[in-house]
Amino acid sequence: MQVLFSNERVMDHFYSIYEDHHNVCDKLATECYDCQISKLAFGLKSGRYSQKKECKRQAHDMQNEEEKDAIDIYQDGIKPQSFKNLIGKGHQEFSSARQQDAQEFIQWVFDKFETEEAKRGRVNPCKIYDFDIEHRYECTQCHGVAYVKERTNQLNLHIIAQENVDVIPEEEELSNALERYFGDEIINKNCPQCTDKQDFNKRTRFLNFPKVLIVVTQRFTYQNWTPTKVNTALKVILDDLNLENFKAAGGLQPGEVGLPDGSEVEVEVEAEINQDLLNMC
Ligand SMILES: [Zn+2]
Ligand SMILES: [Zn+2]
Repeated sequence: MQVLFSNERVMDHFYSIYEDHHNVCDKLATECYDCQISKLAFGLKSGRYSQKKECKRQAHDMQNEEEKDAIDIYQDGIKPQSFKNLIGKGHQEFSSARQQDAQEFIQWVFDKFETEEAKRGRVNPCKIYDFDIEHRYECTQCHGVAYVKERTNQLNLHIIAQENVDVIPEEEELSNALERYFGDEIINKNCPQCTDKQDFNKRTRFLNFPKVLIVVTQRFTYQNWTPTKVNTALKVILDDLNLENFKAAGGLQPGEVGLPDGSEVEVEVEAEINQDLLNMC
């Protein structure tokens, strides 16, 4: 949440609610979305909970005199338990104290914001993370082309190649992970024009860019044909990075022939995307 609120637009939106809402709300704060979200923004922006504080260390007999007099430095910090309780309502995992997946949580939070902000007639500030991806499928037999658009707010990059690897690198550059994500691949699908299973050339591109791009790293690969979690660090060098290289021209291009019923390809793609999401959980 701290990273999310470090964006000025997100922070200003929720902080401004605090000023308007705080004195007029007659609901229980633990059950009020506006109270919870704006208190979190206020807590983070005010700096009230990041003040340096000192406390005398609890002494025990095993310590020498110097240790007994030691002072510990700490800060109160924010423990947004009531925020999480309210936001997590309705989700089996997030309303519990079990270990949770950060990516799944942020997606849940984004969906909540979308619903709750719309109910209040406000523009969800987290729209700055939204963008569209275009998947282009070309049948290698008849060369018919189908385009599938997907709205998302995260780019899921495999930190290292998904093929079986011998040595897991200590670090990988963001540009390599992007090249892999946007690289062509061959997949086998039903072609509505050939009315048969065919190899398709699949290419993924940005249809548009978000204001802020969230990159999620997938930390799995195969070693000796076994799925392995890797600790490879992602090295981010922005100097030569040009995302325009991964931008789509947008839909059917001159000379391309659209598949008669692209929807059939799309249905399969939907199923594939859903399966990918399930595999990540
Ligand atoms: Zn309230
Ligand atoms: Zn075909």
